[in-house]
Amino acid sequence: RDLHSFPTRRSSDLAKRPNHQRPGVEKVMSNYNKILMAVDLSEDSDTVAERALAIAHNNDAELHVIHVIEPLSFAYGGDIPMDFSGIQDEIHQQAEQQLAKFALKHGVDEAHRHVVLGRPEVEIHSLAEETGAGLIVVGSHGRYGLALIMGSTANGVLHGANCDVLAVRVG
Ligand code: AMP
Repeated sequence: RDLHSFPTRRSSDLAKRPNHQRPGVEKVMSNYNKILMAVDLSEDSDTVAERALAIAHNNDAELHVIHVIEPLSFAYGGDIPMDFSGIQDEIHQQAEQQLAKFALKHGVDEAHRHVVLGRPEVEIHSLAEETGAGLIVVGSHGRYGLALIMGSTANGVLHGANCDVLAVRVG
């Protein structure tokens, strides 16, 4: 018998089967019960949301969204002797409004919207732990040179995360 006439099971055959007939796939596909997407509210955020929503939909997962505001005192605290609390409150309110608009557009529940004050990487990690997210979705710019050496939020989120991190290419 010609070698080529033997029925072989190629990986492409397996790939053509529906998920419930693929060994192990069901388990993998239902891996993420909770997903956290982090957005800086720039125009790139829509791309991040589209990917996160698609994964949440495929996994039947609960989707949370976080936007972090960096305290003005981080940047100016030591240099300018002034009380930033009024401006900070104003920034917080605006961020909440912007996130609400964004979340509404993408259908994220009100209870799953988080505006937090702090360092993005730190707050994203901490909310992922708090919510029990199995996946964090962030945007990532193709950086090179000095910008790469300095690091990015996506890099910071990846390092030290206790769950999976998906860096969606944006920009
Ligand atoms: P960057 O490295 O700052 O260009 O940001 C890349 C990605 O990190 C963004 O697409 C977001 O997913 C996330 N990110 C950056 N800044 C924030 C922020 N303030 N709050 C939440 N996520 C952020």
